Amino acid sequence: MPELPEVETIRRQLAPRLHARRIQDAHSHPSEKFTPAVAAIDSTIQGVNRKGKYLIVPLCDGRELIIHLGMTGSLTLVSQPPDDDPYIRAWWQLDGDETLAYRDVRRFGRIRCGPAGQYDTIPTLAAQGPDALSPDFTAEALYQALRRSRRRIPTQLLSQKPVAGIGNIYGTEALWMAGIHPAKRQISRSAAAKLHTALVQVLEAGLAHGGTTLRDYRNADGGEGSHQRALACYGRSGQPCLRCAAPLQHRTYDARTLTFCPQCQPR
Ligand SMILES: [Zn+2]
Repeated sequence: MPELPEVETIRRQLAPRLHARRIQDAHSHPSEKFTPAVAAIDSTIQGVNRKGKYLIVPLCDGRELIIHLGMTGSLTLVSQPPDDDPYIRAWWQLDGDETLAYRDVRRFGRIRCGPAGQYDTIPTLAAQGPDALSPDFTAEALYQALRRSRRRIPTQLLSQKPVAGIGNIYGTEALWMAGIHPAKRQISRSAAAKLHTALVQVLEAGLAHGGTTLRDYRNADGGEGSHQRALACYGRSGQPCLRCAAPLQHRTYDARTLTFCPQCQPR
């Protein structure tokens, strides 16, 4: 699933190329998850922003196009509206003969178009915490947010409520780096500070590598990220911990399988 580094990589590629482009035509798959794409016809794009894993495209008429890539979504700029790819769920034809194509094999993504800043039809976006790379995301804010819930720490991170942009890959890496067992429900202020540092570090490393491509993720040019080669814990169950050489283990918590080091992340 695209997390903050993957979505931010796409945003950085698209922002300069979509700025001031007029949407001349649009098309969508019949599912109501994607039909709002066509509401943006005849609008001009003012930029490309991001909140957590959501791409937010402000339009000249005070509305925003909101795109979530779900599990397998990607956005690419191509020369022609694609007609031979069954997984294209929406496309927007821009002036200057380029098309922004939204491809999503498993259809867990979503597109919305509505007044800027009104997210009541997108509860996950409305309720999410500060973006993990914003100045509002501090160690103290993370500690206070995690204290308010009795749910397991990884479950809280994946809810996007304490901080926005984390999924299974970078969450697993950060818990390993901070030495926090994935079954923990409460952590100390100093452990929260370590987790904060780890989250920012793993996200910035992922971003520097252009994201993680395990299977589906592609950037806006159709290229792959390279952070999969730098993962220390995610996907390495059974292999030796890079810090202590103990075999990494995996276990299922709250319906998600998480990998951890039984020595570096004591329960
Ligand atoms: Zn270890």
